[in-house]
Amino acid sequence: MSAETDVLIVGGSVAAVRAAEAISRHAPAVRVTMVSDEPHLPYERPPLSKTALDGTLDLSALTYPSVAGLREHGVEFVTDTRVTSLDVEGRTVSTTAGDITYGAAILATGCEPIFPPMFRQLPDVFVLRRFQDAVALRAAVADRRKSVAVIGAGFIGGEFAATLATVGRPVTIVDLATKPLGRFGDPVASEYAALHRDSGVTLVLGDAVTGVEDAEAGRVLRLASGATVPADVILLGIGVRPSTGWMENSGLTLDNGVVCDSTLRAADGVYAAGDAVTWPNERFGATMRIEHWTNAAEQGRAAGINAANAVTGLAPIDCVTVPYFWSDQHGVRIQFSGFIRGDEEIVECPGPGGSLYLYAGGDTLHGVLAFERRAEFVKIRAMLRRETTVGAARDILSVGA
Ligand SMILES: Cc1cc2nc3c(=O)[nH]c(=O)nc-3n(C[C@H](O)[C@H](O)[C@H](O)COP(=O)(O)OP(=O)(O)OC[C@H]3O[C@@H](n4cnc5c(N)ncnc54)[C@H](O)[C@@H]3O)c2cc1C
Repeated sequence: MSAETDVLIVGGSVAAVRAAEAISRHAPAVRVTMVSDEPHLPYERPPLSKTALDGTLDLSALTYPSVAGLREHGVEFVTDTRVTSLDVEGRTVSTTAGDITYGAAILATGCEPIFPPMFRQLPDVFVLRRFQDAVALRAAVADRRKSVAVIGAGFIGGEFAATLATVGRPVTIVDLATKPLGRFGDPVASEYAALHRDSGVTLVLGDAVTGVEDAEAGRVLRLASGATVPADVILLGIGVRPSTGWMENSGLTLDNGVVCDSTLRAADGVYAAGDAVTWPNERFGATMRIEHWTNAAEQGRAAGINAANAVTGLAPIDCVTVPYFWSDQHGVRIQFSGFIRGDEEIVECPGPGGSLYLYAGGDTLHGVLAFERRAEFVKIRAMLRRETTVGAARDILSVGA
C-alpha cells in the first residue's frame, strides 16, 4: 500500500468505482488509491438479493467490469483494510495497514445494516449488505425444512422474500408498519402488499417483533399481538445507517451522513459520495441523503471529477441528480424517480401492463413510480431532469409509449 497518493478513495463499492473511473478519464495523470475493508475487489450489490436460489452467486461475474482496466491504468486497490480516522488538516488517514497522505480524499463508505441487540447473539440471523452476507444467508436457507422470516417489508426484505417465493419456499414478512412502502402512498402500499400476497408470501403488518422463542416445531418470532411466526432463519431488513463512525473525530459535520455542499465537498480537499452523503440537490431545492445505486454512481462520478480538480487546481462542479431506484420482485420491476416530500397528491394513471403513479405538488411533477410500464416510466424519468408539470407527463401517457 502506498503511503502517499493524489486522490484517496475510502470505500470499495459503486461510488468508489465510479469516482476512480471519472478520475482516470478526466485527469489520467492523477494517482488514485482505493481502500476498502472488504476482502474483495468492488462488486455489484443489487444481485445479492435478486439472484435465483438455484443459481450461483459468482463473485467474478459481480465484480465491476471496469476494475481490470483501472488496475492496468495504475489505480491501486487496497482490500481488507479499514480506514480508522481522518486528519483533514494533515490530509492523512489512518488505516489498519498504516497511514496514507493524500492530495484530495473521497469518502464513499456507504451504509451498514441495522442489527438490533436482541438478535445479536442468536444463530441464523442475517443482514444482507455484503457478498459474504448473501453467501451465508443462502447457505442457511438451503435446507428446505427451515422456515424463513423476513423482518422489514422494504426493498431488501421484499426482494429476498420474492427470491424464496419464486422457488416455492414459504416465507413470512413482518413489519411494524401497516402499509409497506408507505412513504409512496396508500395505492402503492396496497399494490405492493398484493404483489407479495398473490405470489405466496405471508405478510404480517402492523405488528412488532417482541422476542425470539424456541418452540417444539422450530424457532418462532413472538409478536406484540401475541401471534407467532415460524423463523428458523431470520433476515433483518429494517434499514441501514451511514458508515461514518470512523469520521467522528475528524471535525467533519456528521448529521444523517457526512454533510457536503452542492459540489459534494465536506471540507478542504475532502469530497464524499454515495449512500453516506447528505447534500443540497439543486434540482429539487432540497437537502437529501439517498440510499440507491444510481445516485451513488452519479455522486461518485462528480466527486471523482471534483477531487481530481482539487489536485489539478480546477473549479468543482455541482452534483445534481434525479434520485432513481429500481427493484425486482416476483418478476415485476418497480421503479421510482424524483423526490417526494410526502404531501403530494398521488395521481393514478391507469394503462395496460402495470400501474403508474405521478406525485403532484400542485401542477409540478415531483416524482413517478411504476410497477412495470417500463417504456412510459423511462420517458417521464427523463422529463424529471428539469422542472416539469403533471400535465406534461400525462400528455406523454396519452400519446402512448
Ligand atoms: C442486497 C442489495 C440489493 C440492492 N438492490 C438495489 C436495487 O435494486 N436498486 C437500487 O437502486 N439500489 C439497490 N441497492 C442499494 C445500492 O447497492 C447502494 O445504494 C449502493 O451500494 C451504495 O453504494 P456506496 O458506494 O455509496 O456504498 P456501499 O455499497 O455501502 O459501499 C461502501 C463501501 O465502503 C466500505 N467501507 C465502509 N467503511 C469503511 C472504512 N472505514 N474503511 C474502508 N472501507 C470501508 C464498505 O465495506 C463498502 O465496500 C441494493 C443494496 C443491497 C445491499
